Amino acid sequence: MRVCVIGAGVVGVTSAYFLARQGYEVTLVDGQRGPGEETSYANGGQLSYSYVAPLAGPGVLSSVPAWLLRDDSPLRFRPRLDPHQWKWCLQFALACRASVSRRVTAEMLTLSYLSRDVLHALLEQEPLSFSHLRNGKLIVYRSHALLEKARALVEYQASHGAEQQVLNAAQTLDMEPALAGMRAHLAGAVYTPGEEVGDCLRFTEGLFERLSRQHNVRTLMGTPVSGLRRSGARIVAARTPAGDIEADAYVVAAGMGSRGLLRPLGQDLPIYGLKGYSLSVPVNNDEAAGPAISVTDYERRIVYAPIGQVLRMAAMVDIGGGPGIDEARIALLKRQVGDTFPALPLEAAQPWAGLRPATPSGKPWIGPSRAACNLWMNVGHGALGFTLACGSAALLTAQMAGIQAPIEPRPFLPG
Ligand SMILES: Cc1cc2nc3c(=O)[nH]c(=O)nc-3n(C[C@H](O)[C@H](O)[C@H](O)COP(=O)(O)OP(=O)(O)OC[C@H]3O[C@@H](n4cnc5c(N)ncnc54)[C@H](O)[C@@H]3O)c2cc1C
Repeated sequence: MRVCVIGAGVVGVTSAYFLARQGYEVTLVDGQRGPGEETSYANGGQLSYSYVAPLAGPGVLSSVPAWLLRDDSPLRFRPRLDPHQWKWCLQFALACRASVSRRVTAEMLTLSYLSRDVLHALLEQEPLSFSHLRNGKLIVYRSHALLEKARALVEYQASHGAEQQVLNAAQTLDMEPALAGMRAHLAGAVYTPGEEVGDCLRFTEGLFERLSRQHNVRTLMGTPVSGLRRSGARIVAARTPAGDIEADAYVVAAGMGSRGLLRPLGQDLPIYGLKGYSLSVPVNNDEAAGPAISVTDYERRIVYAPIGQVLRMAAMVDIGGGPGIDEARIALLKRQVGDTFPALPLEAAQPWAGLRPATPSGKPWIGPSRAACNLWMNVGHGALGFTLACGSAALLTAQMAGIQAPIEPRPFLPG
């Protein structure tokens, strides 16, 4: 069977890889010149298996007014005359109910733990080089009240298999001495030993390179798909400037481009681009400059990941600001990072901005589209696409092949 996968970000490349391994003839097509050039390019680098609680949570709506009034807020909302934005925000508000958020967290944990297992098995067969490290994660808190709230979440997550410990300030500094700059404000941290980091772009490129060498795979970069042609109940072609791509099945894994491909077919995906920023700073083995453990500054919502010779910091959710780098947001991020890690050479930081392809609930959509009987989706991974890519690809492949799915697929079925 011939499968055309549209999108060569981390989600599309992993999908193409597992479909090719299943024995399909795969064509992987992307509008960019190489794989991973959009949101998978310079993300936070976290393989954050235990931290998959959605952005939509019970405390979020009450925090929004305060965040909106502050210049240094991790969340910025620019209202637009865009019904899609308002509809998405309304659905997001509904997903903030405690019962929904808890259920989504439990479902996401099944997918993230599957992803971890699938990635580890993959790396035994394909030893990819992407600065992959199992260095654990510290979520650090300034507020004692928030640390106590986190303790309750740790207890809840323990019932779903997460292994975590709550640390006081002294224990946190023992574990990560580079946090000394925060000493005066530090309440403590939650430590999760099993968390990992890696370079998402290098992972995507490495897997793409392996994939390209396989006899049953064709890769077409620099080839934007302008639309999908439907005849009766089936998609019969993906239209590109280089001609039509004909296949027996089509997978849309086009990140932010997915909505534009599905809408003309009558399926309006609830995917909105939540803009975030990253800085990449060379650290060159200077242990005092930045953390060796992956760190999340909870109150400021900044994640820090040591990725090889670089410290990658990622932060912020801008709703409705358009693509591209906002220099004021980068300046704010540099100030906040400089407060915590004053020895970092921030003048050498490489800034980047990307759009997280987010659904209101935070769950990706993995499975058949209702727009055509041979059309599939692997979309909407929001803030967790690197973490969830391998599990999502395995789940999609099992559904397409009609074999036993590795986890319950229903929570992730489109719509
Ligand atoms: C600031 C920031 C930090 C993040 N940090 C983390 C993190 O620490 N851990 C984590 O797990 N996730 C993180 N994420 C989220 C993660 O980066 C995304 O979820 C993931 O990259 C999405 O992958 P994707 O393959 O779906 O989309 P993309 O990487 O955007 O790939 C989609 C591809 O489809 C192609 N495409 C689109 N339309 C078409 C078309 N019509 N024709 C042909 N090709 C098309 C694009 O060119 C692109 O290559 C972060 C995101 C941001 C913005």
